[in-house]
Amino acid sequence: MAADSTSVNAKALQFIEEMTRNVDGIQEHVLAQILSQNSETEYLKGFHLAGATHREAFKSKIPIVAYEDIQPLIQRIANGDRSPILSARPISEFLTSSGTSAGERKLMPTISEEWDRRRILYSLLMPVMDQYVKGLDKGKGLYFYFIKSETKTPGGLLARPVLTSYYKSDIFKNRPYDPFSVYTSPNEAILCEDSSQSMYAQMLCGLYEREKVFRVGAVFASGLTRSIRFLQLNWKQLAHDIRTGSLNPKFTDNSLRDCMTRILRPDPELADFITRECEEDSWEGIIKRIWPNTKYLDVIVTGAMAQYIPTLDYYSGGLPKACTMYASSECYFGLNLKPMCDPSEVSYTIMPNMAYFEFLPHTNSDGGKGKGEGELLDLAAVEVGKEYELVVTTYAGLCRYRVGDILRVTGFHNSAPQFRFVRRKNVLLSIESDKTDEAELQAAVEKASKLLSTSVVEYTSYAETKTVPGHYVIYWELMGEPLPGEGVLERCCLAMEEEFNAVYRQGRAADGSIGPLEIRLVRSGTFEELMDYALSKGASINQYKVPRCVTSSPIVELLDSRVVSTHFSPASPHWNPDRRF
Ligand code: AMP
Repeated sequence: MAADSTSVNAKALQFIEEMTRNVDGIQEHVLAQILSQNSETEYLKGFHLAGATHREAFKSKIPIVAYEDIQPLIQRIANGDRSPILSARPISEFLTSSGTSAGERKLMPTISEEWDRRRILYSLLMPVMDQYVKGLDKGKGLYFYFIKSETKTPGGLLARPVLTSYYKSDIFKNRPYDPFSVYTSPNEAILCEDSSQSMYAQMLCGLYEREKVFRVGAVFASGLTRSIRFLQLNWKQLAHDIRTGSLNPKFTDNSLRDCMTRILRPDPELADFITRECEEDSWEGIIKRIWPNTKYLDVIVTGAMAQYIPTLDYYSGGLPKACTMYASSECYFGLNLKPMCDPSEVSYTIMPNMAYFEFLPHTNSDGGKGKGEGELLDLAAVEVGKEYELVVTTYAGLCRYRVGDILRVTGFHNSAPQFRFVRRKNVLLSIESDKTDEAELQAAVEKASKLLSTSVVEYTSYAETKTVPGHYVIYWELMGEPLPGEGVLERCCLAMEEEFNAVYRQGRAADGSIGPLEIRLVRSGTFEELMDYALSKGASINQYKVPRCVTSSPIVELLDSRVVSTHFSPASPHWNPDRRF
């Protein structure tokens, strides 16, 4: 390792030590900074803080809010009101969260200086990794990164996902050379708006540099499984392009075409190798076979992404899976200080300089729909073993905002608590970044069942991730005979998809990250059997409720063994990049 990389890494680790040693002091300072910076905003003035910047005033006067509480203010900013509503600094753009409100992505205000904080967090990831995996500066990372479409608010502000904003920023595009962060994908490939041309180009570059690839990754596990599936579907074309050294004519993005033309060269030996490996019946361990020097997969497999672990293990022959950071559109939170640990052991250390963090004690007494209770605790005051909902106050103007993530404290690094990501509140189904809750599923079933001449007796759902991309499965038991006519249940599938939120529909229609919804019709009496099964496992007959989503394999097996027919959505639901404002 070059001497300067050593000292850069040492400084980063030193920074983590400093940040985690004095968590409470830093948090106090961060809150004071935010409150003084934003003291003249309409929002803070409305709560009569009178310039106070200490916690007591803040906690006694500022309410805890959810998105819907501040949505009218956000709407005013989106419409072009440039007065200091939430933030004294100008809102530079909106980051569109994968969490939705009234079916649309939530809009999170951000300010340009926020990138300085996020950049610091990114700069800590490789120094931490270097402690556990040596020599990464000698190889490259094959990362599948994508941008999504962006739109403008009526007032002219950009609205786009945070990673799209990052990849398009100068911070990413003009990043200085760092031997620990050399990627096989050129910027032009990452920045191509057509996700399939982007994926093709990234895969092609990864194949050319297969010996140099030391880590393979994507942001979320779902993205990596899709990339491997893409290889499965396109390896013949890829091998052909490598053999001839020329790009196939389906490539229409000119800037990417120019860039790829510079990279491509005829390599028949590589083309033969790819053909041999991909022709094999079994794709077990394909990642290790094609990229033999891969030391780990860099991909988030915590939270909803845990469902992809078996698929990734299969494709990679059980390579370690590193979950490096925990972040959101609202705020980047922290990092995993032991990135090579088993996914079940992952804990994230929240960096106290990122924002002001509070924790709403969370109980889970109602079988999955836990509610927040009691007083909010500070970052330094949370207790090991307890669960909390994360609440943030950001420099960009979110004040005591409920993020919706439930975290469990697993321990401390110095005085910084470490958190296991337990789950996101109220999410029933998720394949990629989509989050569908019980009310959305209920509304979709109601809508679709209007197409039937009979009624739906009971239903439940399942996120099927053995197929790539994954898809929603809805089990339906219908009232009596006759069964619906030809094509009716397919139309019901599409009707449900049309009813889901914009993130789901974008995943289906634009990104191809979610497969067609499937209805599995089960025979009459199946849901009674499901209840009998639950009772045999100790459920109380008085309290039994049909689970609206099933995850455990005996239950899925029971349902599957009663299936009389399966039906898929015949088309993509409608999705328009221009959201409703
Ligand atoms: P978004 O608002 O679309 O940027 O999504 C942010 C959300 O993704 C977070 O609030 C979490 O629910 C989830 N998320 C982000 N990072 C992780 C992680 N490392 N593990 C589990 N879930 C995560």
